[in-house]
Amino acid sequence: MTLLIRGASQVATPTGHRARRGADLGRLKLHSPAVVRCDGGRIAFVGDPAEHDRSFPEPDVVLDAAGGCVLPGFVDPHTHPAWAGSREDEFNRRLRGATYMDIARAGGGINATVRATRGATHDQLLATTLARLDTFLEHGTTTIEAKSGYGLDLETEFRLLEVIRDADRLHPVDLHPTCLAAHEVPPEHRDDPECYVRRLIDEIHPTIAASSLAEAVDVFCEQGVFDLSQTRRLLADAPRYGWRIHLHADELSPLGGAELAVELGALSADHLVHVSQAGILALAASDTVAVLLPGTSFFLRSSYAPARAMVEAGCAVAVATDCNPGSSPTQSMPTILALACLGMGLTIEEAVTAATLNAAAAIGRADEIGSLEVGKRADLVVLGAPTYHHLVYHYGVNQIRHVVKDGRVVVRDGRRTHEI
Ligand SMILES: [Zn+2]
Repeated sequence: MTLLIRGASQVATPTGHRARRGADLGRLKLHSPAVVRCDGGRIAFVGDPAEHDRSFPEPDVVLDAAGGCVLPGFVDPHTHPAWAGSREDEFNRRLRGATYMDIARAGGGINATVRATRGATHDQLLATTLARLDTFLEHGTTTIEAKSGYGLDLETEFRLLEVIRDADRLHPVDLHPTCLAAHEVPPEHRDDPECYVRRLIDEIHPTIAASSLAEAVDVFCEQGVFDLSQTRRLLADAPRYGWRIHLHADELSPLGGAELAVELGALSADHLVHVSQAGILALAASDTVAVLLPGTSFFLRSSYAPARAMVEAGCAVAVATDCNPGSSPTQSMPTILALACLGMGLTIEEAVTAATLNAAAAIGRADEIGSLEVGKRADLVVLGAPTYHHLVYHYGVNQIRHVVKDGRVVVRDGRRTHEI
């Protein structure tokens, strides 16, 4: 099937097949006026309407952009989309002054989500995950990285990864699964965390690797969770399992997670609120993408990662929602773009690249998605506004009018058109 997007005021996109950095991070290619032709799920043409009409036959379907701006579909390279339960009461207690420890002592925090998730069936988890994916899609996200991590035992981690696999098959949004069984030490191992580390290495990781349910692995490397040497042991078998590496690094303290991620050749080091100067330099000299999560800083009312310093140093910076029930329960990449600019000091152009091409690089897919160029997958959004600036300028309002995934219109006039 061929689809032609006509009537766009502009097409704005980063270009290339790898992460952009330094001054290149903020360089978008603008086509104006422009059409985008999709053929067989791939982009066949981007550019001048008259040139298109001279070179191509009539398309099967035309989508009228009605003067809107066309951008690549957002890639969200750090999400925890599969869980049960909800923690809005805890959030409200936190607003009234309760500390993380107060909440943990009252049975809240991640343990509350783990309890609810262990008690949920596959079908219950699948239904809530699919509903969340609808919201991702309505806000312009066409691909996500999807972590397990609310089971913390073999059976439930397995179930979560099966839910992520089934959601990927059923839903237009593409999910790239990551095993995050090393998200936290579960309550039953609190007195002997080392026992859980051994269980992860000897039982949970090998069993999940044998199932091919994950393409990457992640560890929460943090004081009081998994320290540097435990993280190193937890990731030692990743190459043998064919797993790429993501790392929750330097979120709460400068532990050296960024340096370790670089040393291990990780696809991404994520959070980085407390990254050291040495960590910034190590990232800048590597292909490891710095995935920044400004929604988490905003929601926890804590400090933001030093994005400006990282861009100036030459790090490949991406942004993500961190969608999860405790510290960032949002699926909205446009909100993350606004926070990347207003909270972390990125320019709008840098934020767009960080949410598309660099985000694709953070999951190892920059050759396939993240920009609007001939040969790439036809994943794009049409805004109800004439320029990409409005994404951030008109913050807090969903301006995604249409979404195209694999060359098919999956959101039209703000409404999903796919059925599950
Ligand atoms: Zn996370």
